[in-house]
Amino acid sequence: MTAATGPDSTAQQTFYLKDYTPFGFEVDSVDLTFRLAPNATRVISRIHFTPKADAADPQFFLHGEKLKLISASIDGVAVTPDVTPEGLVCTTPDTAFLWEAEVEIDPAGNTALEGLYMSNGMYCTQCEAEGFRKITYYPDRPDVMSTFTVRIEADEEVLLSNGNPVSQGAGTAEWHDPWPKPAYLFALVAGDLVNHPDTFTTKSGRAVELNIWVRPGDEDKCAFGMDALKKSMTWDEQAYGREYDLDIFNIVAVDDFNMGAMENKGLNIFNSSCVLASPETSTDANFERIEAIIAHEYFHNWTGNRITCRDWFQLCLKEGLTVFRDAQFTSDMRSAPVKRISDVIDLRARQFPEDQGPLSHPVRPEEFQEINNFYTATIYEKGAEVIGMLKRLVGDEAYSRALDLYFERHDGQACTIEDWLKVFEDTTGRDLSQFKRWYSQAGTPRLKVDEAYDDGTYTLTFEQDTAPTPGQPQKDPRVIPIAIGLLNDNGDEVLPTTVLEMTEAKQVFEFKDLASKPVPSILREFSAPVVLERETSNAERAFLLAHDSDPFNQWEAGNSLARASRLSMVKTGSAPDPAYLDALQKLLRDDTLDPAFRALMLQPPSQSDIAQALFEDGTVPDPQKIDDAAETFAMTLAQQLADSLPRLYAATTVDGPYSPDATSAGKRALNGRILSLLTRLDGGDAAARQFASADNMTQQYSALASLMKAEKGETQSIAFFEQWQADRLVMDKWFALQVACASPDRAAGIAADLTRHPLFTLKNPNRFRAVMGALAGHHAGFHHASGAGYSLLAENLIALDKLNPQTTARMCTAFQTWKRYDSDRQSLIKAQLQRIATSGGLSRDTNEMVSRILNA
Ligand SMILES: [Zn+2]
Repeated sequence: MTAATGPDSTAQQTFYLKDYTPFGFEVDSVDLTFRLAPNATRVISRIHFTPKADAADPQFFLHGEKLKLISASIDGVAVTPDVTPEGLVCTTPDTAFLWEAEVEIDPAGNTALEGLYMSNGMYCTQCEAEGFRKITYYPDRPDVMSTFTVRIEADEEVLLSNGNPVSQGAGTAEWHDPWPKPAYLFALVAGDLVNHPDTFTTKSGRAVELNIWVRPGDEDKCAFGMDALKKSMTWDEQAYGREYDLDIFNIVAVDDFNMGAMENKGLNIFNSSCVLASPETSTDANFERIEAIIAHEYFHNWTGNRITCRDWFQLCLKEGLTVFRDAQFTSDMRSAPVKRISDVIDLRARQFPEDQGPLSHPVRPEEFQEINNFYTATIYEKGAEVIGMLKRLVGDEAYSRALDLYFERHDGQACTIEDWLKVFEDTTGRDLSQFKRWYSQAGTPRLKVDEAYDDGTYTLTFEQDTAPTPGQPQKDPRVIPIAIGLLNDNGDEVLPTTVLEMTEAKQVFEFKDLASKPVPSILREFSAPVVLERETSNAERAFLLAHDSDPFNQWEAGNSLARASRLSMVKTGSAPDPAYLDALQKLLRDDTLDPAFRALMLQPPSQSDIAQALFEDGTVPDPQKIDDAAETFAMTLAQQLADSLPRLYAATTVDGPYSPDATSAGKRALNGRILSLLTRLDGGDAAARQFASADNMTQQYSALASLMKAEKGETQSIAFFEQWQADRLVMDKWFALQVACASPDRAAGIAADLTRHPLFTLKNPNRFRAVMGALAGHHAGFHHASGAGYSLLAENLIALDKLNPQTTARMCTAFQTWKRYDSDRQSLIKAQLQRIATSGGLSRDTNEMVSRILNA
């Protein structure tokens, strides 16, 4: 598209999986000394290297970016390396040697939040994927593993790094990490922090000191996170036989952070939104997310840290597996069906559009320009789905044996997807070469189903097809595990859940000796990340909604009814489907069903999802019409339920002291959905009362959201702001709600006003995402015919790119679905993408994203 305009001379260089070559040296040990100062931190490194005997070209190249080299020496003799913007090259001895270097860096001026930077006066680091090269010269690649000793000299009270503490004194601390690790797991924190301490004893009797470190004032928001950490440590011992391996485990909360959290060895660094929790300031959804993220980062200690990735193309090796493990944990801690349904909703909302658009890439990509752009839903969530399919194909017992072998065989290594699949092949004798296509082929397969019944034999014919994706015009058939069950006319199961293994492009499965034509329940538990295409009637969907014993497919039946009804409303202007409204009312009143499940049934299909369905159906989606249909549906449902809403609202209200447990949270989720319907009818009376009396954020927030959506929340919004303006995380909610609850006509204007609010700042990624993420998520507001949403986002992305390329590039995904829309909207979006592309001095991250989206 455009020539390289970035500040880096490497802009637009492409890296390929096939080009992998090992580093020519072993790194025997790393000693680092940090003399911290906001604008002039000195980093002194002493690194022992040994050339590898078999290295073809032992060229000594060390990565380094934005470093001021003060001095360098080899075995005590000063050297003058060739320094470029990407690193340095130096002539080295052909036997073991000591490399020493001193560099100066500027943490306070580091707004990209990669490497060593400052957040609210504290020093912290983020090194994954390639941040360590902004700290000192080093072979910054995941397959170079070494032990680290770190000395910190600073005025701050608390000085932390990886591993175990060696010594602590006034203004100094020394840490040693005995476990070899790649540089991306390095971490350092220095600040005037306070801790929430605890202890844990592992199953073999090792006593571990646990701490959550926070800014003074946040101490009372750590107890839930600590409890989640201890649960995670116990669960990993029981479920995977994995014990913690250091004497101390530290978590630090940081306000300015690009990601959710980072699994640095023994020193996890968290976005404060992903660890701080209290009933007054956090919603039930926040509590659940915090529990899951603490588990995720802790589980990385084995799947990521002890066994890491050979190169960044293998990112899914650690992320897919760890997401899969944290989902298992949440299923065990909470409700497994609710977790599965929520994960599929999320997969369809974030991963399917990625797989169907210009950013589509394999779970293991084969090329990239900027690895930061590949921390995607495909690598994480689809990567986890692939592991779920593997487990389903080999069975639970074989999965456990394969994992045991994985840990035994690869502990301390940097591995590949081939290594991962080999442990399954060796333990089960299966050939997984066809299954491996899930890692190499991009795109979501579509699975077509036809059925026939003749003389007691029921036949299902499946056909799989995957549309071309960028760089992959042809696709081969994949192995698809299809979990199915069969029901008779009474709703009794005549075939319990059975996994069919599809390997051909078209394949027939027969079921014999059936007394009558059964009703199939296909893709139970969402057994594969595919789009199921099946001609079926609303009557059959309603039958499965009433009778399916698989909770996922029961929900799916309701979800497909909702989609069908919404599509016909948008396309023909018809009224909501009465049969679906009836079924929904029955479910809502059925007290035998889990409230969390009923809340999910009441969650409407996302407007973006409806737009995609229309597009695939050959209809150009009109965002305003989609929004109108959603409003009409909600109002019709509210009116039909008018008589029972007050009773339902009262029956689902949770009284007494707040507890974030799954049962209470499910009840409050259902209560919130009912309140939003009730608010459409009662002028906001119930919501206003709830807002005034709420003693927890979940109820206060759902009352405020209901009121604002009904345009009756002005007073409460002001009160909320005044109550919480000193709390950064609650203020993020306030900012996001202003946009999310706005009418489509006003969303962009409100977002624009918020960017001029005194509490808005480009320097805090959470605040930026609160406003711009809410705008991008407001389907009808962002895609408003005026183009105001597109233009506002582009303007802010251009401004943010100068400070923080990583967060900018990630937010560009808001434009990835642009080819769905009408030619006017496409022109408007294209103009904004070109405006970003030609804005000058664009980062490598953003340049790559914009080109990929534009060139679709
Ligand atoms: Zn992770």
